[in-house]
Amino acid sequence: MFLAHFGVGFGAKAVAPRVSLGSLFLAAQFIDLIWPTLLLLGIERVNIITDGSRNPPLDFVFYPYSHSLIAVIGWAVLVATIYLVVRHSRLGALILGLAVVSHWLLDLVVHYPDLPLHPGNSMLVGFGVWSSPFIAQMMELAIFAAGVRLYLRSTSPSDATGKWSLWSLVAALLLIQIGNVFGAPPPSATAIAWVGQAQWLLIAWGYWVDSHRHPMTGR
Ligand SMILES: [Zn+2]
Repeated sequence: MFLAHFGVGFGAKAVAPRVSLGSLFLAAQFIDLIWPTLLLLGIERVNIITDGSRNPPLDFVFYPYSHSLIAVIGWAVLVATIYLVVRHSRLGALILGLAVVSHWLLDLVVHYPDLPLHPGNSMLVGFGVWSSPFIAQMMELAIFAAGVRLYLRSTSPSDATGKWSLWSLVAALLLIQIGNVFGAPPPSATAIAWVGQAQWLLIAWGYWVDSHRHPMTGR
């Protein structure tokens, strides 16, 4: 799941207008941002299923530090605490913490039962909506569209850059999603990890867009 997490980041702007879109993206996508590093360090593992039997062609064999429920709650507390200390905003900290947890809840809906509740010998959960690719994609698109709509209603551009930087970001996210869905399976876990690291550019893009837009409300 990719697009829906960014949709949550966009939409969260409606409840936390003073928090930058970059921070909201960072939180909503946090566990998928640390996962590539854990893969590259050999701490977590993913296998690629090349026989076409699985959509998406990935088997998340071991990822308790990025994707177990307990770990995600821990990451949420960490992200919220850092924001509270640096920016002194309780609302911002709360929304960012919830955004971190939202990632796991959305993953829970689509993933096959591969999400641990805690590191160690845990039960694995996942409702498996990915087995119906069309429904999974429509769900992601709907969440993304709703999020972008909320962001548009919560902010207005401060200059021309505030407009086109946003629309080019929306286009880039959609293109990445299309590539993920229709592209060939990744050649290796290392390739997945390096492509995953490139997501940091999307976070930076979020900060850039937001610095050229301002909240519509005085909150
Ligand atoms: Zn994830």
